[in-house]
Amino acid sequence: MARVDRARYLPPELQELAACDEALPIGHGQTISQPTMVRLLLEALALRGDERVLDVGTGSGYQAVVLAELVPDVHTIERIPELAAAARATLPARVTVHTGDGTLGLPSEAPFDAIVVAAAADRPPPALLEQLAPGGRLAMPVGPPSQQVLHVFHADGRVEASVPCRFVPLVFAQHPAG
Ligand code: SAH
Repeated sequence: MARVDRARYLPPELQELAACDEALPIGHGQTISQPTMVRLLLEALALRGDERVLDVGTGSGYQAVVLAELVPDVHTIERIPELAAAARATLPARVTVHTGDGTLGLPSEAPFDAIVVAAAADRPPPALLEQLAPGGRLAMPVGPPSQQVLHVFHADGRVEASVPCRFVPLVFAQHPAG
């Protein structure tokens, strides 16, 4: 994390706050994650350094670039096209930015050794669990919008819960009625 310049992932007017250990607004009602939360989510993945990783909820791209310091193969997906475009312009070329619904994962690039979701839901999206490689793990905040708990879901079905946290909601696609 010390190798990443967080200011590059902030709007110009907030760059002087880059060193604050807080979530900050990045537009479109979204936030750049708090550095401590990025650290806890990525530590929960217990990466060795050779994994293929999917980052759901690109936002500013900050978490994706920290991941790219740890592993060689990072894919990140963001549903808001403007945020995806801004992150694509800032992130190094070794991070592949996709625009789309991350609750569906990225079937064309699956399986992944690790998946990290920087947005909260009351359960992990089933498609993400299906796209885990054997031995893989998915880290995400689970709980209601007001307060969540960081969880790790292992490909073998084990689930671990750790610290309380608060993230923006993971948006599930709306299915037309009937
Ligand atoms: N890791 C980011 C955190 C961004 S906040 C950072 O460090 O800046 C979470 C992001 O998840 C938001 O940008 C939001 O638009 C995105 N998001 C929410 N639901 C999503 C979905 N279903 N698919 C893809 N991105 C989603």
